[in-house]
Amino acid sequence: MKVTVHGAMCVASGNCGYVAAKVFRNREENGGYVELLDPNPPETEWEAVREAEYLCPSGTIQIEDRPIPSG
Ligand code: SF4
Repeated sequence: MKVTVHGAMCVASGNCGYVAAKVFRNREENGGYVELLDPNPPETEWEAVREAEYLCPSGTIQIEDRPIPSG
């Protein structure tokens, strides 16, 4: 999974850092805007990242899922 954020679209709702704290951070001193901590999160974080993308009210979070190689 590859994660990108289009920071200019962020409205600092804080949802992403709440549901996926290992991948996103919303620091008060940064106005609460998203900081991407891990653009290639491990599989254990994928569910949380997908939830963050779903909950993001501004479409800031983009996820690229690579197909799992077969054979
Ligand atoms: S959920 Fe979306 S709008 Fe809210 S802080 Fe995260 S990236 Fe920004």
